[in-house]
Amino acid sequence: MAKKVLVIGGGVGGVASSLMMAEEIRANKLDAEVTLISKSPYHYMPPLWLDVAIDGISVEKTRAPLKAIEKYGVKTVIDEVTSVNLAERSVTTATGRTYTYDYLVVALGTVNGWNVYPGLAEAGYHNYDPESAQVFNRAIKTFKGGRIVVLVPELPHRCGVYPLEITTLLANYYKVKNVKVDIKYVAPISLLGYHPLDILGPDIGRMARRILEEYGVEVIVHKGLERVDPEKRLVVTKNAELEYDMLVKVPPPRLPPLLNNPDFRHEKDERFTKVRTPHFQHPDYDEVYLTGEHSMKPAGLGLAGIFVHFASLRATSMILEEIGSVYSLYDYPPAHCVAYVGNGGFVGSCEVHYDAGEGRYKWNDRCYVTIRGPIVKLLKRTFYMSWLGRFKFGGNSEGEL
Ligand SMILES: Cc1cc2nc3c(=O)[nH]c(=O)nc-3n(C[C@H](O)[C@H](O)[C@H](O)COP(=O)(O)OP(=O)(O)OC[C@H]3O[C@@H](n4cnc5c(N)ncnc54)[C@H](O)[C@@H]3O)c2cc1C
Repeated sequence: MAKKVLVIGGGVGGVASSLMMAEEIRANKLDAEVTLISKSPYHYMPPLWLDVAIDGISVEKTRAPLKAIEKYGVKTVIDEVTSVNLAERSVTTATGRTYTYDYLVVALGTVNGWNVYPGLAEAGYHNYDPESAQVFNRAIKTFKGGRIVVLVPELPHRCGVYPLEITTLLANYYKVKNVKVDIKYVAPISLLGYHPLDILGPDIGRMARRILEEYGVEVIVHKGLERVDPEKRLVVTKNAELEYDMLVKVPPPRLPPLLNNPDFRHEKDERFTKVRTPHFQHPDYDEVYLTGEHSMKPAGLGLAGIFVHFASLRATSMILEEIGSVYSLYDYPPAHCVAYVGNGGFVGSCEVHYDAGEGRYKWNDRCYVTIRGPIVKLLKRTFYMSWLGRFKFGGNSEGEL
């Protein structure tokens, strides 16, 4: 009987995994099928939400209809998964359907924990969902000047380089517009003891310091966010209080509701799932792979699409090996961090390596700047848009084929 591979989550990880699986099934005529279940009819590319906020590109340009992936041989179901029965190898959806599997790949991202700190949900702007990115864009355009606080409540967060990107993009925008701003970059020390500017290593940290200094941005390291007061426009941390005219906030990452239970939740850090490295398996179920952003930190990796993408390919190659593909196993490669900064951008390369003794991937100490300049902005946007272009063929703006 055909092996059933079920993938849940139609974002970066789920799509990378489904596509690789479908291509190998077809190329090797494997007796297997791949089904992708996702609650949104769209496949989004979240990094482009920064372009919505800064450059006002349309939300339409940041997504593609998920159903278009069927052209590549992936059966696609738009539905919300409401429960996973690991013992019975099945999942149930909001419409009451049950799907069984031989292999399960889980890639559900993280959710924005705005309610974790008092006042954070009500205050400020962000571009961590497409609608909020549009609101943020209007606020940027109409801001008359004053103090901007870029607030990172906790580490790690989605996209480690994001605060540097938004801080320098705003600084550059207001410099060219000749609007007077005083920008404070407020962030904590990481759990591993890294200064917030050094989370991508000392080389990228040095560059970040230089650029922030040129823009006159002050970096304030806080010892824990206590609350935000939206009426008084005040950020209160354990060691500093800061008034703001514009607050830009980064969300604390939290587990998607489906995974927030003892079957999946990490015992020591309940923001993430447990996961067995190096293949990203569930600790108790070999046939279940956890490759979404929710599993990156326990695996030692960052909360970024590039890490999720490679984890998904690694896991998928393990499944393919078991079902008879000639595809070789995917070894975790060096990862790139492609970021906008100020009037240009940079590419950081991180040599990811696996520490078998500690049972985790490592990378922070081996990152360096490899390209710097305006070409990077073009590269980044072109890469994400061409990835989406692959799916847009045949789809329409309603997310239907
Ligand atoms: C503003 C911003 C900028 C970023 N910039 C970068 C960057 O420059 N570089 C980089 O590498 N990364 C970046 N990232 C991070 C990157 O987007 C994420 O790491 C990546 O999208 C995570 O992939 P994922 O597959 O785990 O989750 P996602 O891509 O978030 O996809 C999750 C999917 O699961 C679906 N889903 C959730 N719950 C259910 C359910 N119960 N049932 C069915 N479906 C469900 C959702 O609809 C969604 O399709 C950025 C993120 C943001 C928000």
